[in-house]
Amino acid sequence: MYVVAITGGIGSGKTTIANQFAALGIEVVDADLIAREVVAPGTPALAAIVNHFGPEILTEQGLLDRRVLRERIFSDPAAKSWLNALLHPIIRSEMLRQCAAVSSPYCLLVVPLLVENRLTELADRVLVIDVDEATQIERTCRRDGVSREQAEAILASQANRSERLAMADDVLDNQSGTTETIRERILALHETYLAFASQQAP
Ligand code: ATP
Repeated sequence: MYVVAITGGIGSGKTTIANQFAALGIEVVDADLIAREVVAPGTPALAAIVNHFGPEILTEQGLLDRRVLRERIFSDPAAKSWLNALLHPIIRSEMLRQCAAVSSPYCLLVVPLLVENRLTELADRVLVIDVDEATQIERTCRRDGVSREQAEAILASQANRSERLAMADDVLDNQSGTTETIRERILALHETYLAFASQQAP
């Protein structure tokens, strides 16, 4: 399976752009969704987390309380490393499994933290959705109703624009031009990926 990974910082437009590839018939695998699925009730990963952090890591409904978990690992680097060592291999193999099961000509793998988690080798091609930081902040504030300071703090915790661009095979400018121009850029990339995928096919 030819895998195109799509990444970008918060509010850059990954979901919006991925939806447009999906409308062209391309199946999308979403790393954020997988990260939630692997800790759903009844999974071995959730059992290991409860065993490590105690039952207070669960909500009353028996779901992983992400807010509590975030607080626990924020102040405890060892706990964070433990959690990453548990979850990253599981998430990674699930991403590979889902990509392999795709039946469209290529697979679009949406990985917000591709650069941060050094996952670029999972993909045949890395597409970075690029907007400047002011646009990221503006779109995030508008979409999530968060303050400018909150949006800035999230940006600061992620890879920066130049780190991300350094990992890109392709860059999609999701800032300049009209909706129609952006759509044309997507179509051009789609044609390129179809050609690459057919070259790779046995
Ligand atoms: P996150 O990493 O936070 O999930 P994302 O990269 O998936 O974000 P989107 O949710 O797709 O980003 O887009 C962020 C916001 O910007 C949304 O409200 C979306 O409608 C808007 N947006 C996306 N692309 C454009 C564009 N070209 N012009 C104007 N607004 C846009």
